[in-house]
Amino acid sequence: MISVEEAERIILGYCKVYGSDSLPLDDCLGRVLAEDLLADRDLPPFDRVTMDGIAIRYDSLRQGIRTFRVKAIQAAGEEPIDITADDECIEIMTGAALPSSTDTVIPYEEINMVQGNATVKAGDVVAQQNIHPRGKDKKQHEVLVQAASLITTAVITVAAAVGKVNLSVRKNPRVIILSTGDELVDIGEVPAPFQVRRSNNYAVRSVLQQYGVSADMEHLPDAPDIIHDRLRQYIRDYDVILLSGGVSMGKFDYVPEALEKLQVKKFFHKVRQRPGKPFWFGQSTHGALVFAFPGNPVSTFLCVHRYFLPWLRASQGVTSRPAVAILGEDFTFRPPLQYFLQVRLDSDASLGGWVATPVEGHGSGDFANLLAADAFLELPMGREEFKKGEVFPVWVFNPMR
Ligand code: AMP
Ligand code: MG
Repeated sequence: MISVEEAERIILGYCKVYGSDSLPLDDCLGRVLAEDLLADRDLPPFDRVTMDGIAIRYDSLRQGIRTFRVKAIQAAGEEPIDITADDECIEIMTGAALPSSTDTVIPYEEINMVQGNATVKAGDVVAQQNIHPRGKDKKQHEVLVQAASLITTAVITVAAAVGKVNLSVRKNPRVIILSTGDELVDIGEVPAPFQVRRSNNYAVRSVLQQYGVSADMEHLPDAPDIIHDRLRQYIRDYDVILLSGGVSMGKFDYVPEALEKLQVKKFFHKVRQRPGKPFWFGQSTHGALVFAFPGNPVSTFLCVHRYFLPWLRASQGVTSRPAVAILGEDFTFRPPLQYFLQVRLDSDASLGGWVATPVEGHGSGDFANLLAADAFLELPMGREEFKKGEVFPVWVFNPMR
């Protein structure tokens, strides 16, 4: 049996770029950029007025002029209107392009306006105040966002501002999620007292959805011939097969055998971890990757976060920032396995980080306990005692509160 680290290393050895697609900006959130985003103009593109008021030449004020005749009113979006005399000003609005004959904006709050004349009240006026100068933020042609960046809401803001109607994004692998098990019914059916609903499929699909990946979904009965025939098709039609169930030691766990018959090369079967020990990973001769997770809902859920998502991110070229949390209380775990402890996360200013409080449920079948937890804290194998205050990697599945 291999360790979690070995399993991770093997999986990351099979990362792959799946090409790129052009998508409308509205569909890009959560995807990964396949191009650099450049500034099409300076940012801001002109000396941008940041307060409603009057634009003057500072030198006039310095020479002692305090009252300025309003030559014109300039709204945002209008072509700049120049002054031609020292005692003139332009009444000007936030967002307008500063006329080149002026250099300072005095807000309405600091002037008295009487019959087209603006008198500056006593108080400091600083040269060039209330102007966001052209090119101050970024210069034309500067790279604003690099390829392989995750498209966040901030990236959407920038992309929209530089006029990107479409973005080139990394293509996702074609993914199918497969459940196995004769005890499983689809969620719209009424289960018999001895059946359960196949919740894993929906769980996995929703996790993928958060990462901008869509997936097909099918169910396989515990019948070796059917499993074999259907898998033969799926490993041709998809890049990634995410299976849950049927990989343990049970009489009806036919998945490994079927994969072997289809010459899907097994890289490992079983990882020294809890939950998710019977995890199977391999690759078909066509290149499809098969992640076959044990069916217990918490096992599948953990394995998707701990193995599939890092593989996806690395394939997309995105460097993920590993998260850590501080263990909030002493914890003991004796089996010689890496333990993924379900924890609630709370930010603690005095400790300067996220504190992880154990919220253990009743094992890997207790999916309802995921509601009480935010993450899995990864406790290394080879130790039994874990002390309050120690810092461990954390795999977050709920947005931080
Ligand atoms: P298995 O790995 O096939 O031995 O399944 C282990 C446990 O997980 C059993 O109690 C199954 O009923 C349950 N299980 C397997 N697949 C699913 C699924 N797609 N959704 C919900 N529970 C499942
Ligand atoms: Mg089963």
